[in-house]
This record gives sequence, C-alpha cells and structure tokens, in this order.
Amino acid sequence: MATFGIDLGTTYSCVAHIDDTGRPAIIKNRPGDDTTPSVVYFESPENVVVGKEAKAVAKIQPDLVVSLIKRQMGKSFEITVHGQTHTPESISALILRELADAAAENVGEPVTDVVITVPAYFGVAERNATRRAGEIAGLNVLSIVDEPVAAALHYDAINAGGTKTLFVYDLGGGTFDTTVIKVSPEEIQVVCTDGDHHLGGADWDDRLAEYLLEQFQAEHPETEAADDEEFLQSLAAGAEDIKKQLSRMQSRRFNARFGGDTSQIEVSREKFEELTSELLERTVTITQRTLRTAAERGITEFDDVLLVGGSSRMPAVTAALESLGLKPRMHDPDLAVAKGAARYALIESIKIRSDEDGGEAPAEVVEEIAAQLDLPVEKVRALAGKRVATVVPRAFGVKVINRVGGREQYTIEHVLRANTPLPAETEPQRFGTAYPNQVEISVEIWEQSGSVESEALEDNEHIAEGVISGLPPLPENSPIDISFQMAADGLLTVHALELRTRKDLRIEVQIKGGLTDEQVSAARNAVARYNVSA
Ligand code: AMP
Repeated sequence: MATFGIDLGTTYSCVAHIDDTGRPAIIKNRPGDDTTPSVVYFESPENVVVGKEAKAVAKIQPDLVVSLIKRQMGKSFEITVHGQTHTPESISALILRELADAAAENVGEPVTDVVITVPAYFGVAERNATRRAGEIAGLNVLSIVDEPVAAALHYDAINAGGTKTLFVYDLGGGTFDTTVIKVSPEEIQVVCTDGDHHLGGADWDDRLAEYLLEQFQAEHPETEAADDEEFLQSLAAGAEDIKKQLSRMQSRRFNARFGGDTSQIEVSREKFEELTSELLERTVTITQRTLRTAAERGITEFDDVLLVGGSSRMPAVTAALESLGLKPRMHDPDLAVAKGAARYALIESIKIRSDEDGGEAPAEVVEEIAAQLDLPVEKVRALAGKRVATVVPRAFGVKVINRVGGREQYTIEHVLRANTPLPAETEPQRFGTAYPNQVEISVEIWEQSGSVESEALEDNEHIAEGVISGLPPLPENSPIDISFQMAADGLLTVHALELRTRKDLRIEVQIKGGLTDEQVSAARNAVARYNVSA
C-alpha cells in the first residue's frame, strides 16, 4: 500500500512518495516538472486543463481560468463556469485529480492514500474544506498536516539526532507563515505559529507588473495597452520571470510590445526591492511577533532558521531576517513540504494499521510495512513512534454584548487562545446573562479570522451556536461558565453551564458553510465527469 504526500499550494502544488531507497522523492508531473501551477482552465464544458498550460491562458481568458483558489478555502464562495457551479473544494479537487493521475501514471500504481498539507494557521473550516477537496477528488485522505510540520519532518530526516529548535519562515506563492517547532527523535512539537494568508509571491509579481505597465504607459502615453488582456498576461508572466531572475542577478530587461509600440524596461534588483519593500516589511512584522510569542514560551534561540516556499529565494528575505539577528538557511524551499508530507503519510498509514490492531505499532505490522515498502525495519519503527503535537491555530471565543455609554455593541471574547498546545482544555470562564428575566441563553462560537486576535465581530468568523432554554426567568448578569476543549485532531467542544439551574449545553463544532456528505458526493460525480489533463 503506497502512500503519497501532496503539497497543495496557492500557486504551485507538488507530490512526493517514499521511494524504494526509503527516501522521499518528488514525482514529476506530466510535462516533467517537479511542481504544477495550481491553476485550472475550464477549456470546455467537458475538458479541464490543470497546470502550466492553464496558467498561460489565465489573463487571456480570465473567465475560464481559476487561480489562487486556496485563498478561498473554507469560505462560502462560488464560481460558475460553462453553467456549472464550483466551490473552492471542487476546484481544488480538480487540481488534486490531475496531480494524483499524473503521479499514478509516473510511478505505475494507483494514488489513493494521501496526506495533504495546509498552512499551520489554517482554521477549522479551511482544514475541513481541504479534506473535502481530497474526498471529491476520490482520494482517501489519511490526514491533513501543517506545512511547517512537514518541512520540519523533512529537515529531521536529513539532520537526525538530538532535539532541535527550528524557526520556519515559509513564504510561498500566496501565503506566508512563521512557525517555531521543536524536533526530537520522539516528537515534532509546534510551539507557536502565525501568518498571513493573503501575502505571497503573487503579490510581489503584481507590484512588478504594475510598474512595468506604468513604465510602458509613460513611454507611450496614448497606448490602450492597459485594456488588453493578452498584454496584461504577458506583463504578469514577465513579472514573475524577472522576479525569479532578480534572485540571482542584479538587473533584468523586459521587452514590452503592444500594437506598434515597444519598450525595453530595465528593472534592477534595487528597484524591485523598493517596489515591494512594504510586502517584505509585513513578513518582518509577523516574524517579530512570532519571536515574541516564542520568547514568552522560553524560546529565544534557534538551532536553524529554515527558509521554505519559493519566494524565500529572494535575497531580500535573507537580508531582512539577518537584520533581526537570525541566521536563515535555504531548505529545499520548493519541495521540502511535499517530501515531509510523504514521510508523514507513511507515519499515518502505520498508525492507522496499528490502531486497527489496537494501540502501539505491533512488530508484525512494522515488519509487514517495511517489507512492502522495501525499507529497513528500524526506519519504519522509528517513524511509527514519532508523535506530532500541534497548537490551536487561532483563537476561539463567544459573542458577548457590551454596553458602552448606553449603546449595545457585540464583541467577541476569546476563551481558547491561539498557540495553546493541543489537546487543550480551558478553565471555565465566567459570563453573565445580558437582560433581566432571560429564559434562554444563546451561545455563539466564533473563530479569529485575521492574523491577530481582535474583539471586533468583523475580524472573527461565526462557526457554531447553541441555546440553553427552559430556564426560569433569571436576573440580569446571572452567571454562566463556558469552557472550550480542543482535541489533538482539531475537534472543538464547547461546554456552557448556567450555574443557578445547572442546565448545560455541549456543542461539538460542526463547521458552518462546509459541504454536506451529499454535496461532496454530488461534487465527486461532477468532478469525475471532467476530462482532466495537463
Ligand atoms: P511555492 O508556493 O512554495 O511553490 O512558491 C511559489 C512562489 O515562489 C511563486 O510565487 C514563485 O514565483 C516564487 N519563486 C520561485 N522561485 C523563485 C525565485 N528564484 N525567486 C523568487 N521567487 C521565486
């Protein structure tokens, strides 16, 4: 039974497995590349193209191409193409379908059991949506794993031995996150995590493309180039190319041509860094915040600072981190996550097989898997024993009424804080009823949606609710105790207790806006009808 790790990225995705030497190896896609653009082109009502061909038509036929869908994961978002309505889950499923089919073709065996990676700060809804995307693609999702955990697992495979504290700076195509992780022979433990899921290489491309357009317009004031999709597409593609080249070179020239007009636009690395300095600064702010959180947990030194994600190749990233006193190291930036996910998939498959047999991995299971995969028994045993401990990715709380100067205002009071180690259980927190003679109490559970905790409603997402009813009329401010519990797999349970009657309420969070089983199977049929190719 082979298992596969899939890095489902915002801009690029990648698949890896454990090869017959026992090492994680990237499986190339159909065009022969290590990574596949996470771009879907609905060529016709029947045909879908995923990858670099799709990316090439993105700006020419924008209505038929979907990019950066990961930014919509977990949201109620719909898009209709050729009369067919799609969700972030079904579009991600098309990407997964192509990745899995190409990988299966390449290694000559079916791709079914997979682990898919997500940013560490993804909330419950986004994780759920990612798992659903896998199911819609017809895959058996063994687990969802945090990208920095996967990167740390890969690091651990190469630098085995002892306990190491790592700082992971992951700047991908569309998302940014920072994570502090402790790696030991027994365990991978996330200490804290932070990030911004609307910040990545694509933003650097946009800034540069805008500059190229401005320069072209300055030379040709009468041009109507800004209205031409094909021209804009050439600028977008050119901007990404130049950006990558500027990671190695000091200056690049872009040849722009529209109608009879041409321009040679020179871009120096210095100019590029100036155009994008505000973006880099945002990563520095988050990095500093993560360092402070780690310091509060007693961690002030790092054995390694890992740069992950293609955009961490920009020299300005290293320079910025060095100015904070960190010593960053490039760490297989494009492929580390998929490789670590492949390793995690193997760990999960051993655990699942062991659990079926009850608890610890029995020697026979370990030996059987080692034989199946042609791996040394000790290697499989060491992996089987590895625990992964993570933290609460974002804060959870309840909606409360505040009275400010006679006005009523709703705010969110967080009870379970971000970065609490999992499994987590909070002490009961005391709240009071809002009005005199209340006979029922409604409890609304909200999750922090932005990078930082904020009590404003718009910075939080409503995820579940429940009601304690049938109460005798209670005086205003009657006490209610609310506690939060989160299991290692992220399942959230909230307990609310009205102290006078001792009536209580237990809410197991069912994610709002998530797809139902029926919707998943309908989407699976719809996705299966497409002819997907690269
Ligand atoms: P990932 O999501 O990790 O695959 O990151 C992909 C992002 O990395 C895209 O925005 C790429 O444009 C960017 N990228 C890849 N190589 C380089 C490079 N050499 N310099 C700057 N950015 C790069």
